[in-house]
Amino acid sequence: MSGLHPAAALAAGAAVLPRASLATLPTPLEPGPPLPGGARLWVKRDDLTGLGLGGNKARKLELLCGAALAAGADVLVTAGAGQSNHCRTTAAAGARLGLPVHLVLGGPEVAEPAGNQLLSRLFGAHQHMVGTSAWPELEAAKDALCARLEQDGARPYGIPIGGSTPVGAVGFALAWRELMEQCADEACRPSAVVHATSSGATHAGLLAGRAVYRAAGLTVPDLVAVAVAKGIVLDETAVVGLARETLGLLGLESSADALAPLELRTDELGPDYGVPTAEGDAALHWAARHGGWVLDRTYTAKALAAVLALADAGRWAPGDDVVFWHTGGVPSLFAPGGYPTSG
Ligand SMILES: *Cc1c(COP(=O)(O)O)cnc(C)c1O
Repeated sequence: MSGLHPAAALAAGAAVLPRASLATLPTPLEPGPPLPGGARLWVKRDDLTGLGLGGNKARKLELLCGAALAAGADVLVTAGAGQSNHCRTTAAAGARLGLPVHLVLGGPEVAEPAGNQLLSRLFGAHQHMVGTSAWPELEAAKDALCARLEQDGARPYGIPIGGSTPVGAVGFALAWRELMEQCADEACRPSAVVHATSSGATHAGLLAGRAVYRAAGLTVPDLVAVAVAKGIVLDETAVVGLARETLGLLGLESSADALAPLELRTDELGPDYGVPTAEGDAALHWAARHGGWVLDRTYTAKALAAVLALADAGRWAPGDDVVFWHTGGVPSLFAPGGYPTSG
């Protein structure tokens, strides 16, 4: 690695990649109340990225849409669960850039769209409900749709579920840099950074950014990824592979040591993706009543449940700083089952 400061190395690597300006950055880093056991909570507000009601996907879409425009694409196509935040944010990105958007969504056709589907419709996206929720089938349906659009003379840019490609993950390598600069300004010295993970590029991008700092000899916080979907849990090597490809795009490389150890926790997943847990619902209420933060049951509530459980178990000392990365997801609160009716 070059002798540049890691922040400069990441900026230089990213400067050559096409990027669409879509997100409002930096997002705030807010101090919160003490956690059980006395560590201090900080909240990284990626629910406030600004694009189409915010969330972490805006960071990936800046790079993905940059690549799409550079490739001469004239339509965006992606896929996701029925209440996909990624699909909703892609719909908003298309609206901003003047590109039509097609979304392949899991689950049934609904009479009254709510939450993310309502917003995607508002942003003018075409929503294709395919009945299945299995990720491989959603990807296959998206690829088939791209092929059809191409036959009709369009130039579609297909984005995989969650936008989790190396291009998308670059957005989160840069987000690591953003957080480190904010921490320096705020005298926050995080022992850990905790976030929800499902399609993997948030995790891989942060891991890549952290590796650049570590390779420069700086002390880095633990990175704790809280799994909320089963697919990614099965494949830790895929996350490391994605992190390495992300560094490659930035013209950087990293030893396996700088990326390790991978902390991918599965203890808050519960029965499956999108199935709420009692611990998640308790964390959702804790956040709402300790800071007015709005979490969602699929992602952020489970991630904060991990923070609270680790704090309870004594992982951090009183006065330690812990950053909870609020990755968004707020609109799903307003979809059926999005709000816990007890508590
Ligand atoms: C997509 C999403 C995540 C997970 O990010 P990945 O990069 O897909 O792992 C976390 N939180 C919310 C609210 C999301 O929409």
